[in-house]
Amino acid sequence: GRSVHQIQSGQVIVDLCSVVKELVENSLDAGATSIDVRFKNNGLDSIEVQDNGHGISPENYETIALKHYTSKLSTYDDLTSLTTFGFRGEALSSLCALSKFHIVTARADSAPKGTRLDFEVSGKLKGTSVVASQKGTTVVVENLFYNLPVRRKELEKNIKREYGKVLGILHAYACISTGVRFAVSNQAVKGKKLTVFSTKSNPTTKENIANVYGAKTLLALVPLELQFELQPTRGSTQSLRNWSTQDDLAGRQAAISGHISRPVVGEGRQTPDRQMFFVNSRPCGLPQVAKAFNEVYKSYNTTQSPFIFANLKLDTNAYDVNVSPDKRTILLHDQNALLESLKEALTKLFEEHEQ
Ligand code: ADP
Ligand code: MG
Repeated sequence: GRSVHQIQSGQVIVDLCSVVKELVENSLDAGATSIDVRFKNNGLDSIEVQDNGHGISPENYETIALKHYTSKLSTYDDLTSLTTFGFRGEALSSLCALSKFHIVTARADSAPKGTRLDFEVSGKLKGTSVVASQKGTTVVVENLFYNLPVRRKELEKNIKREYGKVLGILHAYACISTGVRFAVSNQAVKGKKLTVFSTKSNPTTKENIANVYGAKTLLALVPLELQFELQPTRGSTQSLRNWSTQDDLAGRQAAISGHISRPVVGEGRQTPDRQMFFVNSRPCGLPQVAKAFNEVYKSYNTTQSPFIFANLKLDTNAYDVNVSPDKRTILLHDQNALLESLKEALTKLFEEHEQ
């Protein structure tokens, strides 16, 4: 039978997207300024994330992939002021349970000598060996879900769509991460390794966008800088049951910054993948916010799907990150207040750009 560990691990690593998201966030948490993501066969055969971050200390080799091990959170209070992406210590342990998994890591003081770490399915360290490695960490995930036939089949069936979603997520990390070089490649089963996209270590998000989507994209963009007070709305409080931090956000400041394309009346290209949303620079899916943006665009009688790069700056107690184990869902308190204020501010911004 399947172990409890495998079943629980299914929560943080649910698909290809969560693998890539967790590994890239670990690299960013490790202070990486260079991240290479390499897929083989769209990720079905392997996913490899290599960074030049601080590496893993030898005293952590034994614990790194054990469930709930994290080096990132020292006190409970830290939970309210998270500065790192990770804090649950579930990603590596899940990957041990769900894939053929190993790590190569080197700290500054040991490079060019590094250590390869192999793990049991349980996350227990199985063995180490000395290998050549620059400073940093490479995590290799092969044959994701090899031991869960139904999940594996599902993944194989949907791989084109999954891989497309993964690239969307990588675009978002690459665009928001100033000062970090990204390179993403994919190798077909019998093909050459192809670069999918890459960014330089740019000082601005604008340059990142140019690297990812092409310099021409910038011509259509206007700066998005909105500041607004959240309006009180009736019945807007979400069904938050147990969140002790819940309070009325009306009257508080919120801000959105980024880049968006001007509404263009008439026919346009359909490129829905060019919409990225962030909360305090954390890439995340915000379907309601996306809907609000697209609604304002629609009122301009356009069929074009706009370019949106929108970073919401909110009080950390204005939302909850850890409502879902994969941290992809962010729960905005008093979301309706935010959406109303946002639509109003956006309409105003477009009016200014029409003149
Ligand atoms: P979390 O990120 O929540 O701490 P993970 O399971 O993702 O949990 O990672 C466990 C630990 O492994 C991290 O706390 C960190 O100490 C270490 N780690 C993982 N990836 C890297 C990396 N790329 N570079 C350095 N350390 C890493
Ligand atoms: Mg992590």
